[in-house]
Amino acid sequence: MASPTALHDTVLATFASAFGGAPTLVARAPGRVNLIGEHTDYNDGFVLPAAIGVATLVAARPRADRWIHVTAADFSGATSSFARDEPIAPDAAQPWADYVRGMVSAMRAVGHAIAGVDLAVAGNIPQGSGLSSSASLAVAVGTALSALNGLDLSPTAIALLAQSCECDFVGTRCGIMDQLVSARGRSGHALLIDCRSLACQPVPIPEDMAILIVHSGVVRGLVEGHYNERRASCEAAAAKLGVAALRDADLPLLEDARGHLSTVEHARARHVITENARTLQAAEALRAGDLVSLGELFAASHASMRDDFAITLPPIDALVAELQALIGGSCDGRGGARMTGGGFGGAVVAVVPKDYAAAITHALTYRTPAGAAPLVMVEQAGPGAGLV
Ligand code: ADP
Ligand code: MG
Repeated sequence: MASPTALHDTVLATFASAFGGAPTLVARAPGRVNLIGEHTDYNDGFVLPAAIGVATLVAARPRADRWIHVTAADFSGATSSFARDEPIAPDAAQPWADYVRGMVSAMRAVGHAIAGVDLAVAGNIPQGSGLSSSASLAVAVGTALSALNGLDLSPTAIALLAQSCECDFVGTRCGIMDQLVSARGRSGHALLIDCRSLACQPVPIPEDMAILIVHSGVVRGLVEGHYNERRASCEAAAAKLGVAALRDADLPLLEDARGHLSTVEHARARHVITENARTLQAAEALRAGDLVSLGELFAASHASMRDDFAITLPPIDALVAELQALIGGSCDGRGGARMTGGGFGGAVVAVVPKDYAAAITHALTYRTPAGAAPLVMVEQAGPGAGLV
């Protein structure tokens, strides 16, 4: 994985080879790991993510004409071009460029004038792993274009535009978590986000706690379909419960209405209701440095994702179980593990005492479907998006 310096060099070299010369500015937006609160964001609920050290960089330089050109280091320098003043369509040949097209489209839709520009993109977030490379790309584009066009957008405004990019242009009906934490993340802190009010409460991460991200190597397939289907079930359950969103429901209400919900809707709603409660408890446990309680909440969250929300897969369950056993055995249960991100593959997050991170990584016997040792990232909470 490219180091921050190597990534910066890559984006500059990619820019120079596509457009010649140097960019006017480089924007950076981080990926994120969600500690807990899965599929709660689009239910107006609570999430507890942290921005991490890997990121997407966007190098930008204005053009005098009406064209927007973008090139991607991670897609062999492929390019995509569109006019700033014509309707913007998806690029079927370069789907990655839809996050750029969608961002410009979202910015234009709310009245921001976007000038012609050359853009180069490079990232070191493993894509499609539940670490939000997509949100980070959209937020980085928004940060670059806000600065270049003198828009002075707030991080929250950029996050909302990036969410609209993914929902309305790309077609994943995502919540606001990924974009908001990429835009507003804070070093050394997780963010407890109320996805209804968009209030972000920084929660300090204990000095002695490490965040391990372990890649299952299971590649997600057809994730948008699954994702949007889960969201539809949640909306159907909320409507039958007579609440605006599942955030407003509790378990007694759910049990009272049991006969009105399908078995699937009941299970999906139970996940969201219990996950919201766990997320608030986890923020308290984190604040108190109570890794034992945090570990128990992680375990319950994973079981709920597996049994009620049905978004895990057997290899991911096996990886989580192995991490939980290692944490139970070697750190007296201080810490825990769960799948992180939208599901159906991708990464697992574990929290452990710092002193044990290396030993646990070393002891892991899990192998990816390709038979390789999994990629393990030891991460710290880093800052949100900004100009480099
Ligand atoms: P995740 O957000 O969990 O990483 P997604 O499937 O939502 O997974 O988004 C991954 C997609 O985002 C990629 O397939 C690509 O289209 C786009 N993307 C992410 N990072 C980059 C990058 N560095 N360059 C170009 N496109 C990227
Ligand atoms: Mg994504």
